[in-house]
Amino acid sequence: MNPDLFIGIVVTLLGLVMGSGMTALSWRVPRGQSWVTGRSKCPGCGHVLGPLDLVPVLSWALSGGRCRHCKTGVSARYPLIELTCGAWALLAWLKIGLTPALPFVALWGFLLVALLWIDLDFQLLPDVLTFPGTLIGIAAAMAGPGARHAMWGMLLGAGLLWLVAEVYFRIRKIDGMGGGDVKLAAMFGAVLGPQLALMTIFLAAFAGTAWAGVLLARKQADAMTPLPFGTLLAPAAMVAFLWGDRWLQAYVALIR
Ligand SMILES: [Zn+2]
Repeated sequence: MNPDLFIGIVVTLLGLVMGSGMTALSWRVPRGQSWVTGRSKCPGCGHVLGPLDLVPVLSWALSGGRCRHCKTGVSARYPLIELTCGAWALLAWLKIGLTPALPFVALWGFLLVALLWIDLDFQLLPDVLTFPGTLIGIAAAMAGPGARHAMWGMLLGAGLLWLVAEVYFRIRKIDGMGGGDVKLAAMFGAVLGPQLALMTIFLAAFAGTAWAGVLLARKQADAMTPLPFGTLLAPAAMVAFLWGDRWLQAYVALIR
């Protein structure tokens, strides 16, 4: 077997398994449950999930998206999280290869996937995830582009979001953006460095404007409806990591 093919398959499978962990994490952390101890249970019938229920994607597909015991529907979100993490592991490996930074970068992305969903459900970016996420991000930078890259990325990313939140607060007199977004910016800034951290914020703001536009047009929101910005920042950071430098080069070539 071609060694690259073999590595690609192993990396993807590891990503799927980690994705299974992220589904548990994104369920338990915002509900105040420990994510280190305790077995996963079906929220419908309380049946403790065994190895057969926890095979990424396959368990869900083979059981028709239902609990094997009580037939409660299991959200398609869970296999989606697993697939996203599998794809992330594969793409991160294709991007930076089997380097010392790879495990840190992979873990950083898995945590971003969990944060995306937690913010969507609870408008919350828990410190217990963003803080270790930032340390992992710094480790990834130390194994790759270095400490200055991480420091400037964190300063610029978190600084810009803090500034936006301040301005927003002064104008609207309400907290539009949680401190969680600022901490999330430190987490992605550490890995991305200053340029791609900026790109991430612009991508997320652009997507947020489009999202708000759709909600407003459908009368599902008014101008005061808060959008979970972390839900946009997290995938924007992953996209910027994978393709941002290429876009940046294309852009520089264009304006020259
Ligand atoms: Zn059940």
